[in-house]
Formats: sequence, C-alpha cells, structure tokens
Amino acid sequence: MTGILDSFGRSINYLRISVTDRCNLRCLYCMPPEGVPQMPHSEILSYEEIRTVVRAAAELGINRIRLTGGEPLVRAELPKLIKMLSQMEGIEELSLTTNGTVLKKYALELKQAGLSRVNVSLDTLKPDKFRYITRLGELKTVLEDIEAAKEAGFEPVKINTVVMRGMNDDEILDFAKMTYKEECHVRFIELMPFKGAAEFVPSIELRQHISLLGKLEPCESITGNGPATYYRLAGAKGAIGFISPLTETSFCSRCNRMRLTPDGKLRPCLLGEDEVDLKTPLRNNASMEELKSLILKAVASKPEHHHLEGGNIRVVNRKMSQIGG
Ligand code: SAM
Ligand code: SF4
Repeated sequence: MTGILDSFGRSINYLRISVTDRCNLRCLYCMPPEGVPQMPHSEILSYEEIRTVVRAAAELGINRIRLTGGEPLVRAELPKLIKMLSQMEGIEELSLTTNGTVLKKYALELKQAGLSRVNVSLDTLKPDKFRYITRLGELKTVLEDIEAAKEAGFEPVKINTVVMRGMNDDEILDFAKMTYKEECHVRFIELMPFKGAAEFVPSIELRQHISLLGKLEPCESITGNGPATYYRLAGAKGAIGFISPLTETSFCSRCNRMRLTPDGKLRPCLLGEDEVDLKTPLRNNASMEELKSLILKAVASKPEHHHLEGGNIRVVNRKMSQIGG
C-alpha cells in the first residue's frame, strides 16, 4: 500500500499544491469582489522549493499531486513546474484544477510537459449568470478552452460544479445531460461556507432531481483520487460525481489528502486551521530527513473529521483561494 498512515488509519497519498493565491476571477463563494490581499512574491514557494517538498513527500509514499490555486495558470511558466514534477520518481499522477480561462493557450504545452488530467470549474451554462458568479469571466472562453483541452488529449475532462440554491440549481439537469453526449465527468460539489454567500444544496437532493432523467447507477470503476462518488445515467458516456463534504458521514473517513499553501504551509485539513510551516525550514537548508519528519508530523495531526455537519458556519483562517480548494 502506498501513502502515509495517519492516526485514524487513513492512507494519505495525495497532495494538493496551491501554486499561487492570485486569480483572474472573483467567484462569489471564493473571493470578495476586490480580491484578497496578495502574498508578497518573496513569500510564495519557488518551483524549486515545491519540487523539494514533493520529493520528500514522494519518498514517504505520496504518489498523486494536484496543482491548484488561486488560478494556477496565472502563475508564470507553470508548464516548467509540471515538467519538474511529472518526471519525479514515485509520482504516478499529476493533475490540475483550473477555471479554464486561459487553458487553451497552455493545453498542448501542459500535455507535453507530462500533465495527466485536467479539472475545469464551471458553475453555469448561462453567459450572464457566469459573469455574475465569477464577476469577471466569460462563459464562451471557458467552453472553448474545455474543447481545446480535449483536443490536446485531456479526456475525459472533469467539470466541477459548485451548486448554490437559487443560483444554479435550476441547471442541474442540463449539466447531467452533458454526460450523454460525451465522455466528460460532471461533479457536483456542496458549497462550503467559506464566505457564506449562498446556500448549499445537499447531494441527495441533486441525485433525486437527476433521477427524473432516469436511474442513476453507481459507477465504482471511476474512483479518481478523491471524495467523489460516481453514478452513470443509462446510455451516458460520462459519469456524474457528487462531492458532499457537508452531508456525507463517511466523507472525512475516506480523506486521503494534504494541502500545501502558496506560502509553504502544509495543511492537514482544508477546514481546520492547523498548519505546519515548511517554508522556513526549506529556506534554512533543512535536510530531506528534516522535511520528511515535518510532513509526518502534519499527517499525524490530521483531524478525524471537520465540523461542518449540518452546514454549521465555521470561520477559517484563510480564504479558499489561499489554500487551494
Ligand atoms: N481557480 C481554480 C478553479 O477555480 O478551478 C482552482 C482553485 S479553486 C479554489 C478550486 C475549486 O474549489 C474550484 O472547483 C472551486 O469551484 C472550488 N471552490 C471554491 N470555493 C468553494 C466553496 N466555498 N465551496 C466549495 N467549493 C469551492
Ligand atoms: Fe478564482 Fe477558482 Fe476562486 Fe474562482 S474558485 S475565484 S476561479 S480561485
């Protein structure tokens, strides 16, 4: 078995790395309209520093990496980092979560650099609503960029849709129908109360609603790396996933991940406030063994579960864009 065993018997084999806190959108559930105060560039880990952390993590058994942000593709020369990580011994999968606004420009380069998979965030199929939710984005660009990603060989592209009551829950069937036409996977995410800007919709309600299209058959062959549970509509090429941090009791018991913030803090739980500082030791020339023991310390402090059950609002010390969702 790969991975690092935590105190509750979970195998941690997945690291999500937020490569920047910057973003070219301002999604209403993630950032205020004016953005958040930016970290100074000097505080953000260099690609070489990220590589050192990943090497230490890989030696301990982490074999899957996802790059996220902020918007990872606004960081200069991201393909350079992809190349550095994709060639590393022990790393079996390297993927990216992006808002899709500049993906077309980089898709081929990312593929050639060794990126395995791409997830694109898309909460609505209506142009005006897209502009309202993202405050700055254009739907047409993202749809074109998804096509460009497929042409570059990233298939299936996974679509991440955060569902907000009264905002985009009227489009659930349209998203679900996308899986009939092509082999894309649509994943509905329960909104987490980072900003309290909208109300989440429980996944069970979405499943019942989608059942109007036909029976949803569990689809165990698609596991991904994460907490989504997948289903398929009869005759559909793609699958429908549900990510239910607020309502699924086994959500945390299946957690296999750690997060690295842009400023080099290892975060055992997205919704907890504990962090282990890796940047200071990295910049003080810590040895590989020292880094590994800090990673083990962070894994050992991973909590058994978060405290969002029932939608309790819990203030966390960072915005989602500063952690990497
Ligand atoms: N900028 C990239 C993007 O939007 O895909 C990567 C970073 S974004 C923080 C990663 C994922 O977190 C996106 O799919 C986004 O929709 C999701 N996200 C952000 N805020 C969220 C919230 N409050 N609840 C649930 N998901 C959230
Ligand atoms: Fe930017 Fe992604 Fe947050 Fe939207 S969800 S503001 S695209 S980081």
